[in-house]
Amino acid sequence: MPDSKAKSIASKMTCKEIFAFLSEYVDGELSEELCEAIQTHNGNCPPCQAFVDTFITTIELVKKQPAKPLPPAVKDELNAALNRCREALDQAR
Ligand SMILES: [Zn+2]
Repeated sequence: MPDSKAKSIASKMTCKEIFAFLSEYVDGELSEELCEAIQTHNGNCPPCQAFVDTFITTIELVKKQPAKPLPPAVKDELNAALNRCREALDQAR
């Protein structure tokens, strides 16, 4: 079952790997198993989930306005999400 394989990948996945895979994940370049593994990890890891959600929202905004630079408010929100993530990771270790 692909589902259990994704779960076993997810159980070995670290938050750092989530960040490393993020741009490929958003671009749809990851295998189905890795996508599921990221989703499974996010289901158990609120900081990663918050970060991925913010990241995807930002990418979608940028895609809607390809000619414009990233609005400062969006940039701030992305940075804030990243910082929250890092703090959560620091506390976890
Ligand atoms: Zn995580």
